[in-house]
This record gives sequence, structure tokens and C-alpha cells, in this order.
Amino acid sequence: MTKPVILLYEAMHPLALDELRHLAEVRTAESLDEEDLVRAVVDVQGIIIRANGVVSRRIMEAAPKLKVVARHGTGVEAIDRKAAQELGIVVVNTPEANVESVAEQCLAFMLSLSKRVREADKAIRAGDWGARYRLIGSELYGKTLGLIGFGRIGQRVAEMAHVAFAMQVVYYDLVSYPDAEEKLKARAVPLEDLLAISDYVSVHVPLLPSTRAMINTQMLETMKPSAYLINTSRGPVVDQGALVKALEKGLIAGAGLDVFEPEPLPADHPLYQLENVILSPHMAGHTDEALYRMAQVYKDVIAVIEGRDPVYPVL
Ligand code: NAD
Repeated sequence: MTKPVILLYEAMHPLALDELRHLAEVRTAESLDEEDLVRAVVDVQGIIIRANGVVSRRIMEAAPKLKVVARHGTGVEAIDRKAAQELGIVVVNTPEANVESVAEQCLAFMLSLSKRVREADKAIRAGDWGARYRLIGSELYGKTLGLIGFGRIGQRVAEMAHVAFAMQVVYYDLVSYPDAEEKLKARAVPLEDLLAISDYVSVHVPLLPSTRAMINTQMLETMKPSAYLINTSRGPVVDQGALVKALEKGLIAGAGLDVFEPEPLPADHPLYQLENVILSPHMAGHTDEALYRMAQVYKDVIAVIEGRDPVYPVL
């Protein structure tokens, strides 16, 4: 039997790639230009896309054998889902693959900010041993953690913080999660209350029209001056200009940011000048384990091609 042809927009975890090669003929796109992709998809049955490139209607219409488009990761903004639906093409993703990694990154930011790890490392490298008297940190123990968005990642962060550091968890979400509330002694509160009482505020909502710039000047002004903001969700959920002003004025104590608007963050951006900020280049979900789990999206690709139901369809 001839193997199905699967086009990868970008390379994926080598172990998963080896697994997939047993089941399919795997090609990697030479370019992510629409024109080149239109030519590259003519005989493919499955496409796997990561963070870059788009799967437009034109590309899908140029692929008469295409049955499934997979997002290695979560966000499916780059896939024209309406066109996929009209063309009978299934869209799948990996909503659970990087939950653990992103939650750990959030805790890494909280610990680094509270222990002033970045500033301490910089000081000792500059010969400033006296920093030990100046860079006084704080404990997470018993502090209040406010989670904006209490889905998969938010709840995992809550569990880590509650179990390991006895943090009091409050959350704001459109949905209420009574089981998690009971298990984690978490409390649902209005957004403004959450901002006013939390020592750490961590954002875990998806980017939607309703969440764009959800954290704006007014919200930042509601936070305690001693509080830290963590954003590992999507850059535009926080009004970045307002955040820079809040950090410069000392309205909040600091921030840990994995996501920005735009990405990459321009080289001259004022965030780079701020001492009370820790930055990472949208890599919270990029651990070896999560990359392998995300690459397992190929199993749903094969399932759809073979006429079986995928585990993670995007509905
Ligand atoms: P999820 O869908 O499980 O949870 C999202 C929660 O947000 C849900 O409970 C939902 O009800 C809530 N929500 C949606 N709109 C809201 C609104 N307007 N107000 C309040 N709550 C609202 O998603 P998840 O798996 O926990 O992931 C959260 C986000 O993390 C993703 O959408 C993605 O943007 C981001 N993410 C980032 C990385 C990274 O590498 N930095 C990796 C994975 C995911």
C-alpha cells in the first residue's frame, strides 16, 4: 500500500519524525510563501503546521487529496477553518501537550521574580557581592495568586502553587470550575477584586476580541505596588504600552513575560531596559517533552487519513 504524503511546514521533534516516517512519506516545505505552498500541496493528504506560515483557502483548494490540517500546538488562527469546513478538511491540534511546560514556566517566573534571580546573577557577575544586602527577595509561601483564565494551564499553575507553596488561589473566568475550586481551595472572584488582592497575577486566557488588552492601565492601577504580573498566554491580552508605564512608575513590582506584541519584540523596545522584568522569547511550551508530545499530532493526522476519529478535533 502506498504511504500517504504529509507536508510539514517546519521540522518537528526527531523521535516523532522517525515514528511518522514509518507510516507516511514526509516532506518538509522548502518555503512558507503561499505561492510555493500551493505547488507543494498538490498530492498531500495531511499538513502539519507549527508557529509559522498559514493554511489559506487557496492552499487547501490546491490540494484535492487533503483530508486533515494539524496544528502542532494549540492556536489555530493561521488555518482558514471556515474554508477547511467547507472543503471537508478536518482540523486537529494538541491542546494538552504543553500544559505542564507552560505552567512550570509560570512558576519559574514567579520564583525568579520573588528571589530576584536575574538581578542577583547580574550583580555577582559584575563583582557586586554587596547585592546580598540590597536585593532582598520574598517568599511565595502563603501569598495570593490570581489566575485570569482557569482552564487547563491556569488550573495546573494553581495546583503547583497551592500544593508546593500553600498559596491562596483566586481566579477570574467566564466559566466556573467548582471541582477545581474544592480541590485547590480556589475562589472565583470578579476581575477587579482579583487584581486588588493578588500578590502574583498570571494570565491564562486565549486571545479573543473579549480578552484583547484586558489588562490595561486601569487594571494595572488596581494592582498592589508589590505585585507581579506574569503573562504566558498571548501578548495582546496585556496592553504592553500601559505595562511599560506601570513598571516604570512602580505601579507594580515587576513582570515575567513570555509573549509580546509584536513578536519578535523589536530590539529597541523599552521592556529590555527594565530591571524588574524577566523576558523569554515565546518558549514556555518549548521543552523537549512538550515538543515531543506536540509532534504526536501526527497520530490524529494518520487517524483522519485512515478514516478514524481524531482524539483532538478542533470543532
Ligand atoms: P484553556 O482553553 O484550557 O483555558 C482558557 C480559559 O480562559 C478557559 O477556562 C476560558 O473559559 C477562559 N476564558 C476565555 N475567555 C475569557 C474571558 N474573556 N474572560 C475570562 N476567562 C476567559 O486554555 P489553556 O490550555 O489553559 O491555555 C491558555 C492560553 O495559554 C492559550 O489560549 C494560549 O494563548 C496560551 N499558551 C501559551 C503558550 C506559550 O508557549 N507561551 C503555550 C500554550 C498555550
